[in-house]
Amino acid sequence: MPDRVTRRLAADPAGFAAAGKLLREGGLVAFPTETVYGLGADARNGEAVAGIYEAKGRPRFNPLIIHTAHIDEAEKLAVFSPLAEQIAHKFWPGPLTLVLPKRANALISDLALAGLSSIAVRVPSSQTARSIIEASGRPIAAPSANRSGHVSPSIAEHVLDDLEGRIDAIVMGEAAEVGVESTILSLLDDRAVLLRPGGVTRTDLAVILGYEPDVMHEPDDESAPLAPGLLKSHYAPHARVRLNAETIEEGEAVLLFGAFRPKGLETAKLSINLSPRGDLKEAAAALFSALRMLDQSGASVIAVAPIPNFGLGEALRDRLERAAAPRN
Ligand code: AMP
Ligand code: MG
Repeated sequence: MPDRVTRRLAADPAGFAAAGKLLREGGLVAFPTETVYGLGADARNGEAVAGIYEAKGRPRFNPLIIHTAHIDEAEKLAVFSPLAEQIAHKFWPGPLTLVLPKRANALISDLALAGLSSIAVRVPSSQTARSIIEASGRPIAAPSANRSGHVSPSIAEHVLDDLEGRIDAIVMGEAAEVGVESTILSLLDDRAVLLRPGGVTRTDLAVILGYEPDVMHEPDDESAPLAPGLLKSHYAPHARVRLNAETIEEGEAVLLFGAFRPKGLETAKLSINLSPRGDLKEAAAALFSALRMLDQSGASVIAVAPIPNFGLGEALRDRLERAAAPRN
């Protein structure tokens, strides 16, 4: 899909300003952090976030880490318990991500959080990263800047090998110092759980926690299927989900895409079209709020009209298939 020219920006004030402007306008910009190079987008802008999945070829919508330049901006997005506060002040800026309850009024796209009510936040220590985030004036969603399934890039050249022509710009900055992803610590319900090992170790964390956090690894491979039970808070509707619906039963809630109209649509309780013009990016940005609205209609079944199986359609279908899988 290479479809654009990837600008090389210098890691200087003019480059930061240009990167910030591109991000504000919904563009995709890769930049160094101290962990690995990240692929950033405005976390408030669902279509910009959808662009991340498209550029990476990620077959799954997993929640993304939201980066801010300062602690007080992270505090506007998440609810910090006294413990979370203490940990943030000890390890930020730095290679630690905290998973916390999202603030109800935080303006973050549903897609960036994969529909969850928790949010993963981090303040990186790389001055380059912070300057870019600050210049953008936005919270920045940023997974590693590689094609899905490839290793995380620690230098700009590796980002270009994977993403040249697929992203708007890269800030040609320093090599990532740590070279592995951030440690992810979940503090939901005030129980510390290590979701991913990284730059900050369990022993480092034990000093503050008074105990070593439980470990609940997620697969390293970002394209791997999630094991059942992992990320148990993954958003799933209460209604049963029925895929590839070409006929609607009376009283069902219906998720449409593009121009296709299933038979019996007029008997639906409610129908929502993810993108009447058939744009997968627009559809991805709308997915989680649409599911929630259909679920809230009280219908016991959400019927999903066929969705294309290419590009972002793959991740859309994956999410819907998992919502349709039997639950225990
Ligand atoms: P990355 O691919 O480096 O952006 O890391 C994303 C990982 O952070 C996810 O796979 C989750 O483990 C974790 N994470 C991100 N956002 C959330 C969230 N809202 N709730 C829980 N975990 C999250
Ligand atoms: Mg990665």
